[in-house]
Amino acid sequence: MSNDKKSKLIRLSKSCLSESEKRAVIRVLDHEFLGMGAEVKEFEDRLSDYFQRPAVCVVNGTAALHLAVQACQIGPGDEVLVPSLTYVASYQAISATGACPVSCEVDPEDCLLDLSDAARRISSKTKAVMPVHYSGGVGNLEAVYKFAEQHGLRVIEDAAHAFGTVHKGKRIGSYGDIVCFSFDGIKNITSGEGGCVVTSDEAILTRIRDARLLGVEKDSDKRFAGQRSWEFDVGAQGWRYHMSNIMAAIGIEQLKRFPEFSTKRKELAKLYDSLLKNAKRIKTLNRDYDSVVPHIYPIRIGDLPDREALRKRLLDYGIQTGLHYQPNHQLSFYASGSAPALPVTEKIYSELLTLPLHPDLDEEDVRYVSEMLIKELNHVG
Ligand SMILES: *Cc1c(COP(=O)(O)O)cnc(C)c1O
Repeated sequence: MSNDKKSKLIRLSKSCLSESEKRAVIRVLDHEFLGMGAEVKEFEDRLSDYFQRPAVCVVNGTAALHLAVQACQIGPGDEVLVPSLTYVASYQAISATGACPVSCEVDPEDCLLDLSDAARRISSKTKAVMPVHYSGGVGNLEAVYKFAEQHGLRVIEDAAHAFGTVHKGKRIGSYGDIVCFSFDGIKNITSGEGGCVVTSDEAILTRIRDARLLGVEKDSDKRFAGQRSWEFDVGAQGWRYHMSNIMAAIGIEQLKRFPEFSTKRKELAKLYDSLLKNAKRIKTLNRDYDSVVPHIYPIRIGDLPDREALRKRLLDYGIQTGLHYQPNHQLSFYASGSAPALPVTEKIYSELLTLPLHPDLDEEDVRYVSEMLIKELNHVG
């Protein structure tokens, strides 16, 4: 490509919406029932079909994680193992219950929870482990479950990045203890904001269905029937975490379009891999994009003196980049005085750079981003 400067901005990520989502929202608005009703019920039913087991929809992915931790009756005095390399949502969901997130290292090859490091951080207070399916990959998930079984821990999967990923022939969410997804604007499917919890545990499901509606017992069934509870009991702390019909209407249409999104994301990531694999300084993540549906495309760049300068030059070419994620153990709220340093995570973070990935990009965009990146890295010397 000869012209370096592109007139359009290649966005890091974005929502991809068609007329079908817009029409679906208008139908809900015309019907004038915006709260949790028929559309949320339909979205839950479609998700339950998709995962082949019950799904409960909530207002966002953080709420899904928070309710999952709470439903495990984890709270003050308890600890949850979580990789530091995640969005702060994972941490806030844990600390919202009063429990303490215990920061763990990730494996530099795949940026997923390092179980040998997690094992060293287990204490008598540890109640659960929250693996984060960074960028859509899940790594050796069997080992996470074996580890949890050995130590008597619940597993709450932060699958915010992994909607659609298949592992050993099985869809993420279709099995496992408790699996949480996010449908925020830029995730693999969106409902505007939104999220869901998927599990086969009936006690957990009941607690979450009640807790999303201020703890009002069995209110979910009433709302799905277009009614409300006027007289009821509340047996536990709840929140206003239910999904609205407007959100679900978007989510239903996005789920129908998911095969198209999934194919596109995988193809673009494969193309990035093939273009960048042998480039100087660049290390691509260890992911098999035949089965992983990538939410983001992060790479690692070794020996880079000034990442911000590189990002600025890429932006001059119209290429937006991101940083996923600033380690959470370094945030004031989570950095306890005695917290051990996480040298592996800190090193990885210093090398990370996320390249644009969303279904509205095409092959030419990915070739352009890769070409400009390689060109800039050659100038670094
Ligand atoms: C997006 C995200 C969440 C939370 O989802 P929201 O819907 O934004 O609340 C949790 N964990 C990770 C890793 C995420 O990327």
